[in-house]
Amino acid sequence: MRHRRVDALIKSPTIILSLFRRTLSSSSYNSPSKIHQQPRINNYNPSFDDTILNLCHQNRLKEAVNLLDRVKHPSATTYSTLVQSCLQHRALEEGKRVHSHIKDSNFIPGFVISNRLINMYLKCGSLGDAQKVFDEMPERDTCSWNTLINGYARVGKLELARKVFDEMPNRDGFSWTAIISCYVKHGRSKEALDLFRTMRSGVMQNNMFTLSSVVAAVAAIPSLLSGKEIHGHIVRMGLDVDSAFWTALSDMYAKCGNLDEARHIFDRIVDRDVVTWTAIVDRYFGDGRWNEGFVLLSEMVRSGIKPNEFTFAGVLNACAHQTLENVGKQTHGHMIRTGFNPDSYAATALVHMYSKCGNVRSARKAFEAVSKPDVATWTSLIAGCAQNGQAEEALKLFELMLQSGTQPDHVTFVSVLSACTHTGLVETGIKYFRSIKDVHGLTPTVEHYSCLIDLLSRAGRFTEAEDYINKMPMKPDKFLWASLLGGCRIHKNVELAERAAEALFKIEPENAATYTTLANIYATTGRWVEVAKVRKMMDDRGVVKPPGMSWVEIKRRVHQFLVGDTSHPSYDQIHGFLKEVSKKMREEGYIPDTNFVLHDVEEEQKEHDLSHHSEKLAVAFAIISTPQGTPIKVYKNLRTCVDCHTAIKFISRITERKIIVRDSNRFHCFEDGNCSCNDYW
Ligand code: ZN
Ligand code: ZN
Repeated sequence: MRHRRVDALIKSPTIILSLFRRTLSSSSYNSPSKIHQQPRINNYNPSFDDTILNLCHQNRLKEAVNLLDRVKHPSATTYSTLVQSCLQHRALEEGKRVHSHIKDSNFIPGFVISNRLINMYLKCGSLGDAQKVFDEMPERDTCSWNTLINGYARVGKLELARKVFDEMPNRDGFSWTAIISCYVKHGRSKEALDLFRTMRSGVMQNNMFTLSSVVAAVAAIPSLLSGKEIHGHIVRMGLDVDSAFWTALSDMYAKCGNLDEARHIFDRIVDRDVVTWTAIVDRYFGDGRWNEGFVLLSEMVRSGIKPNEFTFAGVLNACAHQTLENVGKQTHGHMIRTGFNPDSYAATALVHMYSKCGNVRSARKAFEAVSKPDVATWTSLIAGCAQNGQAEEALKLFELMLQSGTQPDHVTFVSVLSACTHTGLVETGIKYFRSIKDVHGLTPTVEHYSCLIDLLSRAGRFTEAEDYINKMPMKPDKFLWASLLGGCRIHKNVELAERAAEALFKIEPENAATYTTLANIYATTGRWVEVAKVRKMMDDRGVVKPPGMSWVEIKRRVHQFLVGDTSHPSYDQIHGFLKEVSKKMREEGYIPDTNFVLHDVEEEQKEHDLSHHSEKLAVAFAIISTPQGTPIKVYKNLRTCVDCHTAIKFISRITERKIIVRDSNRFHCFEDGNCSCNDYW
């Protein structure tokens, strides 16, 4: 059928004539002169050749290849075009037919056709055939080598790509770029960098493409030393690079932790847009250099660049991370003044910021202003409620979210499960855990399992907890074991505690908390021999408990307090304040938790004067150093102890202050005698 149609086509005199004319002015074709062509003695048949070419141009590849059987010695152009068509259509079968025709007709292909054959086989996934064509080539040009390297690199055959690269006699910019970016793409930055060094020491001409790959490699490690190396190289060579390169280099420095150098480069970039600006501002926030970040932000606005939603989101997320509610509020105000899209990332970042700062009321208001809350917006508010003692509200919101048709994600379920733990709703928690997979088609992560184990072991349901641990498809992580250990402490389950501690010793043998929690469980059950054993184990392994330390920022200065610290210049006032406030506390019913040695062996137990725990010192100092009503924020490196927790609740009521304590475990937002954690931490 098909043959007849082609016959009809080639019999048509007008077509033949026009094809013939085109052949005469053959310069318009893929110039055959470029092809390494052996002189051939054959009767050139323009009509067949041109019909094949014509069919190729019409994307009628099968017909073109079928027609090939009727031509003994097609022209190089015909072969070349056919292979190119097979490559474009990823037509392996046709490609193989063309290839065997080339062999059968004793035609010796030049570089162009051979390279195209290699490329065609590579793109069609037939790597062995590609290698064979390459191996059989009597001579190869740079393109042959590069094609093979690229082909292997693209499908992740790193070792093969490297082997070809190593054997290649004369590498050019493309070879280096191909192999370096291949390593970068597969996360093997070290090899990428080593190659860059080799390239640099050779006579290779750099090209921008290679340099960008290398910068990406360094940023991925990240290695400051290598960054400097590349930077120095560019300066020494006097290379003319564009803004995109400088932006990448600036970002690389920032990622490597050298923000000042990043800034130095940033300052010299000519055409900086909102993206470039936002990136550097984010880096400042990420580095904790708030003031400079904000100065830079206002500089950006002054220079006429309008912050976009990503800029705002970045600022707000930074505020959330650092619980800088005041700065967050200022940003919110700025957003209102300049106008912002209520359905943007920035709007969600607002909910997130207020939630993280413990201001659920404002978080809710920000949430209500979003007309189309997405999963991130919902999750931010749910998390805010769950973390700030409104677990029931969190679960209510979750149900509302489901009703609104918004699909929860992994993060949502972490908050939902922890809300269940806070309220002791074990059955509900299990139901939600099961629904992750059964209802929502998501795969529970190790974090979800961790929450579930927390829920079960806090309720003392250890058999079920163990059952889940034994059946879970992934390896339990340190958080899961720590949750289990925590539950064992509450219920004095020595046997299971030992198993959890054993697992934790394997994962992080240097973490003092595991040893002390285990010792604590032994102590509460009167197993003093075991307590001594754990202590000895700590000594033998050189595990040192970090001293309790708290810090607070007053007027842009950070004040740090160690347990029992008397070195602070305001120590006398701090001591006086604590003395006075504890008198009032006792009047209101506060009883110092003298049992704290048993409850919190891991925290500061050597300090017997409870009022000298570092967080109390920091809170006291902050209160006497700030005007009445100013919220206070204290950071602590360890978990806060039971006694301090109780005391700060009293202090918040007596002094009418909102006190946020961020310890190693979570946020505590003390207000009017209560803590947002509901005494759960
Ligand atoms: Zn304490
Ligand atoms: Zn608390």
